[in-house]
Amino acid sequence: MKTVIRGGRVIDPGLGLDALRDVVIENGFISEIVEHADTAYARVVDATGAIVSPGFIDMHVHLREPGLTHKETIATGAAAAVAGGFTAVACMPNTEPALDSATIVADVLRRAEAAGLARVYPIGALTKARAGVELAPYHLLVDAGCVAFSDDGTTVANALVLRNAARYASDLNAIFVSHCEDASLKGDAVMNEGAPSARLGLDGSPGLAEDVIVARDLLIAEDTGKPWHIAHVSTATSLDLMRWARSRGVRATCEVTPHHLLLLDDRFDQYRADAKVNPPLRAERDRQALLEGVRDGTIDVFATDHAPHGLDEKAQLLSAAPVGFSGLEIALGAYAAALPDVPLARMIELHSVNPARILGVPGGTLAVGSVGDVTVFIERAWTVDARLFHSKGKNTPFDGATFPRRALATIVAGAVVYEHGRVLPRDEAVHS
Ligand SMILES: [Zn+2]
Repeated sequence: MKTVIRGGRVIDPGLGLDALRDVVIENGFISEIVEHADTAYARVVDATGAIVSPGFIDMHVHLREPGLTHKETIATGAAAAVAGGFTAVACMPNTEPALDSATIVADVLRRAEAAGLARVYPIGALTKARAGVELAPYHLLVDAGCVAFSDDGTTVANALVLRNAARYASDLNAIFVSHCEDASLKGDAVMNEGAPSARLGLDGSPGLAEDVIVARDLLIAEDTGKPWHIAHVSTATSLDLMRWARSRGVRATCEVTPHHLLLLDDRFDQYRADAKVNPPLRAERDRQALLEGVRDGTIDVFATDHAPHGLDEKAQLLSAAPVGFSGLEIALGAYAAALPDVPLARMIELHSVNPARILGVPGGTLAVGSVGDVTVFIERAWTVDARLFHSKGKNTPFDGATFPRRALATIVAGAVVYEHGRVLPRDEAVHS
């Protein structure tokens, strides 16, 4: 099987490449990058006027399966991924039951394989049932295919448990990913603590709730030597702590969501829950610090925290509605809107190169011999219509927004799984 992505501007930061080229994939792997490829017997993707990048990897999504399949399934989540330009996603373990056993992880991988779309990398639970008490069986979970560990959705409250976990897992390549939110400081908050929460008379969660846990976890990372990743940073102080930890040699990385780069805590005046999320949308000072964190290199990764829910669930009162919303199908455009001044090579590092390196998974490069995972995108304005999402979660605070960039084609292991607005499962892609 041969696929040729023809005539696009090929950008690979790792190779130092930015030129008009044809990318050739044979039997699932990149076989050559040349000025004019032989297209005989090949599936051709016309990338004229488009940008050709190593496949995008979203290292923070919620696929909801097992247990919460009314919100999303692995198949619908994988379809949303490729429609958004993502060739791979890492899925969080806050399913029901949690991803804390090899059997459940094997089932996730089987379903992902059957879907035949994006690669899916399970993130195992840090503690059994994500209860924060007993350690999960890390070695068994890595053998089953887990690439990282996290109790995302909640913070491991007990510092001794977390320290023991990091020591126990110190010889495994799988990083720890922290959701940083101190439960006592957060209380029953539904939004950020600030002028808007005071005006609305709603409980707010201070940035301090995030900062104290970021500091704690970076100190445990230093103490144990465990490589550590901070999920969805949302405050200026979190970034200062990241810089401080790195200056001491801590192997720490972090990610930012599109919504924390674009939205503020001033949008709850109608008490609607469409933008309710954890960590909450913050104030302008924090948002500016996050934008600067991308520009100065403090932030390593773009990650959506794709968190689909049913429309009826999100239509509840602000206090009752669940946190989060779909992100996979808006991310490419939203990041472009947030950071129009950042060079494409740097954007591709955050979308692809860095998540591949941090997770230790294939991809992040178009070097000959590497996996044939490619994202083709175009600088063209489009308007978000959540009803058209492939995700079951049709909620986004960006519904109706216009973004300047979108995916044109998504290629996984040489198979064109998304093109011209259509999702093409791998079997179909091979034969079309
Ligand atoms: Zn989280």
